[in-house]
Amino acid sequence: MSDLPDEFKCTITNWEYIYSLCRDVSDDVRRDEFEPDVIVALARGGWFAGRCICDFLGMDDLTSLKMEHYVGTAEKSGEPTIRYPMPEGSVEGKDVLIIDDIADTGGSIKRAQEYVEDREAGEVRTATLQLLQTSEFEPDYVGEQLEEWAWVVYPWNFIEDMVDLISGVMAKADEDAFSKRDIRHYLKEYHEVDRIGMEIAQPNRLTEILTEMERREVVTMTTPGEWALVD
Ligand code: ADP
Repeated sequence: MSDLPDEFKCTITNWEYIYSLCRDVSDDVRRDEFEPDVIVALARGGWFAGRCICDFLGMDDLTSLKMEHYVGTAEKSGEPTIRYPMPEGSVEGKDVLIIDDIADTGGSIKRAQEYVEDREAGEVRTATLQLLQTSEFEPDYVGEQLEEWAWVVYPWNFIEDMVDLISGVMAKADEDAFSKRDIRHYLKEYHEVDRIGMEIAQPNRLTEILTEMERREVVTMTTPGEWALVD
């Protein structure tokens, strides 16, 4: 998220919604009569989906692959790289389903597929819960294609993303202090996050996020009910 401009659309999701996308992907895999021996869930975004899809498909072989973009401390490399090599025997001779949360450029899942194919796996197919039109890679199974580019806030990432989004809007709006109402206003203005949508997806979370931002020393409460960024 750190590479994004300061205004972009965000969509807040919840567990039920994402779980239903996992079910849709599983239904497609079953309908296709593809019977993978193992699921490779890309860390960290593909973990929840990998576990749920194992359950839907009645599988117990689940393993992980961590894709990274960072070569040095803060140097972003164009090509995603594999962080931890897979243990010997994870995929060799097995039919594999690789799963991730979303394909944006599609670089991670494409690289993962090449890596698994190089390990003498059997048939290797790919799936993502969501697909953006920006992706140059088309997975075999897609839960949902998004018509418009958005940053999707997943429930497993909710606090991390909201801390980033709220600190980002505070920096951009550049006021001395912000009430909850101000924060909601700027989330709407800069990220198209409206109060109703956020409260339906993730009810009553704003206080929790602000408390966590205080604990992480990202913001400080200036007067009761108002917060400012810590410089
Ligand atoms: P790249 O590998 O080039 O960064 P990917 O499309 O493979 O691009 O995305 C890598 C990971 O970054 C995804 O698995 C997801 O966790 C996160 N991500 C990328 N784009 C988004 C987005 N629009 N919304 C939410 N998460 C995203």
